[in-house]
Amino acid sequence: MGQPVAGNPTQYMMEKAFADCGLDWRYLTLEIPAEKLADAMAGMKAMNFHGANFTMPHKVEVIQYLDGLSEAAAMMGAVNCVNRVDSPDGGPPRYVGENTDGKGFVESLRELTDPAEKQIVMLGAGGAARAIAVELALAGAAEITIVNRSAERGQELTDLLTDKAKVSAKYIPWTGDYDVEEGTDVLINGTSIGLFDEDEAVPINYETLNQEMIAADVIFSPPDTYFLREARQRGCQTLDGLGMLVNQAVIGFKIWTDVDPDPAVMREALEEYLEL
Ligand code: NDP
Repeated sequence: MGQPVAGNPTQYMMEKAFADCGLDWRYLTLEIPAEKLADAMAGMKAMNFHGANFTMPHKVEVIQYLDGLSEAAAMMGAVNCVNRVDSPDGGPPRYVGENTDGKGFVESLRELTDPAEKQIVMLGAGGAARAIAVELALAGAAEITIVNRSAERGQELTDLLTDKAKVSAKYIPWTGDYDVEEGTDVLINGTSIGLFDEDEAVPINYETLNQEMIAADVIFSPPDTYFLREARQRGCQTLDGLGMLVNQAVIGFKIWTDVDPDPAVMREALEEYLEL
């Protein structure tokens, strides 16, 4: 459920994976405006849906209709995945909120490195950056530096990381081209810069990147962004946003069905849908 959701690739990925696992399940993409969320939640419960994903503008508002939250979702104050937990004694089911955005990213990062004890620089402090930063903190990152244009959002995320996720964190205002600090292990573009524009540059000083660093992008369309191309030229290992998207779908699928889908089937479906 979200608005706008036209063109969202998740349904295509999920249905390919249901078929591959021999599950007679359906995943629907539902355009729900903000003011209809209460009705939509009542409908979802009345129709006994097994679960749902939520995207903008519902990730925070949906919480009031739920019966519980995972640790990470409670910390972030945002939910993108809901699961129906049936009562063993035939009572009413509980609807529990989870956030798979950051978990999908961390799964993807683990293909290159373990985030434990790493120095992380996060560009951005919006919903995606928040989810990823909290999961990196829970995964044992040594320090997280938040670089954001709006000081209010940047400081708020930094405080959340320090106070609730108990990780060392600092905020750096983003003015001009950011010089990436020496010793950075993982640099993440968590902003919306580069979405649908392969030549849009994330404003950093690319000369400060080096081959010791991993550069990761949340942008999945196009997957090979300006940021990643420049980082690769400086010898960085890179991670595109497709892995994060596939992995969060893998995690949601498992939460709902208790079956492990084949990530390769989902990645292939995603690439087919995005015509890559
Ligand atoms: P939000 O609107 O919540 O946050 C956007 C962030 O980008 C803010 O930090 C904002 O800074 C920053 N930003 C935007 N434009 C600029 C700019 N010109 N200069 C500096 N900073 C800028 O969006 P989300 O966090 O929800 O989504 C961000 C991106 O992540 C989207 O493109 C989305 O498609 C992608 N995404 C990818 C996923 C995946 O699975 N690969 C999953 C979820 C999201 P400020 O606070 O100053 O406005």
